[in-house]
Amino acid sequence: MAGPMTYDAAQFTCNGCGKCCLEGAGWLPLVEADITLFEEQAPHVLQYVTWQGDPGARQGSLSRTVVTGRETTRCPFVRKLRGRAQYTCGIYDVRPTVCRRYPTSRDHALYTGCEGYDMPVGGGD
Ligand code: SF4
Ligand code: SF4
Repeated sequence: MAGPMTYDAAQFTCNGCGKCCLEGAGWLPLVEADITLFEEQAPHVLQYVTWQGDPGARQGSLSRTVVTGRETTRCPFVRKLRGRAQYTCGIYDVRPTVCRRYPTSRDHALYTGCEGYDMPVGGGD
């Protein structure tokens, strides 16, 4: 889920549809900075981390399946806004880098079903 800002020097604005957090991959790759941020500011998130690599390695992913143990694409941190068909991130200030950067391009948005861009590639003009 992108932030509420417009970015990418284009016509992108996150509309809060939540699709990326409800229908995304079953796991979110983490970089070391994400793990450090969890450790320092949100240690409760660490229980959702599936560690990878050698014991003690600071590598892992944020699993979407920890809570229920069932396969799901819904992130455990996505929250629906009361009375609105919009969603927000329950760990917005410490959300993983992959979430901050999504979508990485207009093509990425189109490919993954994000409607934050206001017109398709080649459209308009
Ligand atoms: S799919 Fe796109 S528009 Fe919808 S919440 Fe995610 S980033 Fe925002
Ligand atoms: S951590 Fe937040 S932004 Fe990332 S998928 Fe989950 S709810 Fe969405």
